[in-house]
Amino acid sequence: MGKKRAGRKVRVDFRPNRQQPRRRDDWTRQYRAEADRLEDEKLVESVRAKGELSRKRTILVDQHELPAVDESMWLHGTVTRVHGLICTVNDSQGRSWECTVRRVLRTLLIETRSPVIVGDRVWFSDQSKVSGGKLVGVIERVDPRTSCLSRRDARKRRHAIVANADQLLAVVSVAQPRLRPHLVDRYIVAALKGQLRPVLCFNKMDLLEEGSLAENEEQDRGELTVREAIDEFRRLGYQCICTSVVTGVGLPELRDALQDHLTVLSGQSGVGKSSLINALQPGLKLPTREVSADTEKGRHTTSRAELLRLDFGGYVVDTPGIRAFDLWAVAPGELEAFFVEFIPYVQKCRFGDCSHRYEEGCAVIAAVQAGQISPRRYRSYVKMFSEV
Ligand code: GDP
Ligand code: ZN
Repeated sequence: MGKKRAGRKVRVDFRPNRQQPRRRDDWTRQYRAEADRLEDEKLVESVRAKGELSRKRTILVDQHELPAVDESMWLHGTVTRVHGLICTVNDSQGRSWECTVRRVLRTLLIETRSPVIVGDRVWFSDQSKVSGGKLVGVIERVDPRTSCLSRRDARKRRHAIVANADQLLAVVSVAQPRLRPHLVDRYIVAALKGQLRPVLCFNKMDLLEEGSLAENEEQDRGELTVREAIDEFRRLGYQCICTSVVTGVGLPELRDALQDHLTVLSGQSGVGKSSLINALQPGLKLPTREVSADTEKGRHTTSRAELLRLDFGGYVVDTPGIRAFDLWAVAPGELEAFFVEFIPYVQKCRFGDCSHRYEEGCAVIAAVQAGQISPRRYRSYVKMFSEV
């Protein structure tokens, strides 16, 4: 990525992280818009405030707000909650600050339709001295985002929900409720679509060992056993963590996977998400879900996302609104790119727009027949294709 014009630096920063640049989709477009916005912001910033002198001028303009502090005194933190005009910001020492956004910045962010959201990394000035020692501050600057997940409201407008998330932890249970590998495939697609690294957690392993295996095997007659299904995901290259809150197995590995990441948590209710989080960090509670959010339709997804801070480093975000994330808005044509094992075959199909379902000369179908692609994964693809 050597030769780039200076003004394009922001793009260079995030490109190497993009794992699925194959198709330009809405999400990518939004992502680019975001990058453009950041570039614009940089421009505006350099126009309005180049160097210390003009920064002082900015502060002068802003004299009605709380007094600003020298930039070198700014603290760095992560926004964990947004409530109206107040953001809760966690600093590097784990302290929690209640911050407003400096008006100049707020105006700029409103103009670019991009308010501060959870996950944003921000610089803020300490205003505790003028607030009787309470940990309050003013957000002065927002760092460029490395990712941005959004949801769409009923009028199809996008709302950014979480910034800087880097992985998606899909929690499923191997029994009660029984494992549905197709659902795992969906989480993988959702994660890749959102440019998040998928991490798969198979919980309630104790039930598998106790003999509930029989139940699973019976229902899966002629299909893969739970262990075979997990092995299949492993062979595809996805991190698979087998856990049990009851025996404690896999918990250290899960902890390692979460440490220092901003992880989006997903999984149906009852699979053990709350139990897992609580086992990793006693006292840490997932926000209780609203009933309406469980309808999968996202009837009322007004509930706000909130980051939970992990003592051992990193954040987890779990929000009912996640179901309405644009993660699921995958176009049929881009689905193939999210099935990693299809990729070597896709170019070999006779037709450029092959959907790999019935076309003649389809290299993907041939690979399934030759045993190079798992029939289960292939069926999963076909099922998803008919849905998107
Ligand atoms: P959530 O809805 O995904 O947050 O799931 P919960 O954490 O509330 O767990 C649902 C149920 O599964 C509870 O009764 C838990 O006690 C139980 N559970 C959670 N993890 C395990 C596990 O590893 N093994 C077993 N046997 N039960 C579990
Ligand atoms: Zn094909």
